[in-house]
Amino acid sequence: MKRITAILMGIGISLAFAGCTSQSLEGQQEQVNFFGMDTYMTITAYGEDAGEAVEEAQARILKLEKEWSVTDESSQIYQANHSGGSPVTLSDDTRDVVSFALEMAEKTGGALEPTIYPVLEAWGFTTDENRIPAPDEIQTLLEHVGYEQVSLSGNELTLPEGVELDLGAVGKGYAGDAAAEVIKEQGVTSALLDLGGNIQAVGKRPDGTDWRIGIRNPFGDGQMGMLLASDCAVVTSGSYERYFVGEDGKEYTHIIDPETGYPVDNGLVSVSIIAEEGKVADALSTSMFVKGLEGAEEYWKEHQDFEMIAVTEDGDIYVTEGIEDQFTLGDSFGNMELHIITS
Ligand code: AMP
Ligand code: MG
Repeated sequence: MKRITAILMGIGISLAFAGCTSQSLEGQQEQVNFFGMDTYMTITAYGEDAGEAVEEAQARILKLEKEWSVTDESSQIYQANHSGGSPVTLSDDTRDVVSFALEMAEKTGGALEPTIYPVLEAWGFTTDENRIPAPDEIQTLLEHVGYEQVSLSGNELTLPEGVELDLGAVGKGYAGDAAAEVIKEQGVTSALLDLGGNIQAVGKRPDGTDWRIGIRNPFGDGQMGMLLASDCAVVTSGSYERYFVGEDGKEYTHIIDPETGYPVDNGLVSVSIIAEEGKVADALSTSMFVKGLEGAEEYWKEHQDFEMIAVTEDGDIYVTEGIEDQFTLGDSFGNMELHIITS
């Protein structure tokens, strides 16, 4: 499997370097494959204006990546994180995504925590040199964590010394919305964007039927099930996406519980969110994962403006009632128990 992945990655890289677009025989489908925001992305659009649309969507995403990177010294987020408490002027996009992240942090009771970066760094998730920090190190770092410490006034962002932003949990979703917008502006009515597993559907398939969106199997390769959907975003957060095995033999995932500073370990292995907007789906996938099954159910019952598929490590699947009829479990997942969350 590793070899296949390596080959596929190789193909992704060569396409990215070639800046390649592929065209189907009918001349109706255009696709770009590229590496952006730390992941492989594929954008497919249909119809006369598809070529221009996919190129512009790719450019839009790469522009946002440059503004938000936590490692690129010229990015606005890097500059804010290293500003030593001085204000930094943001672009309108960066202002919007930061403002949205702060809004969702508040709405989710701090489960989404855009200032989690120092803790994430201590666990080595930013460098892939993972380690288990000492409890007092985590406690000290947690003093610099808290979205309430961020001040955004117009386009001016001020972070107190030691406070650092990480848009990892919402950026791809916002970028998906922005890219879908660019595609629609080109007159395209049918497109599918796959931003490293964050799916954004524009309209329906060219034949007028719903898109068939695969929901990743959190226990291994391939897909666990399939969702029929159109004009929406489907975003998944999973413990399998990035994790390390500590010296104690335990698995530690890249999503941190901001209350404790420790990687989430609440019995969930993945949460998929279906929402109108990518940024909402992305923010909720991460924060519902942090909240755990009960907390996520409660949040859904209170808001009900999104749908959710949550999978536990015991193999139970919880699906909100709004997508009960659109979601089908794959043939080899018959041993998993499907529960419907109702209001
Ligand atoms: P996602 O894949 O959308 O769930 O986002 C996960 C990423 O968001 C992680 O790799 C971190 O960069 C960041 N992150 C981790 N924990 C949190 C949290 N509680 N709130 C916000 N961002 C987080
Ligand atoms: Mg997310």
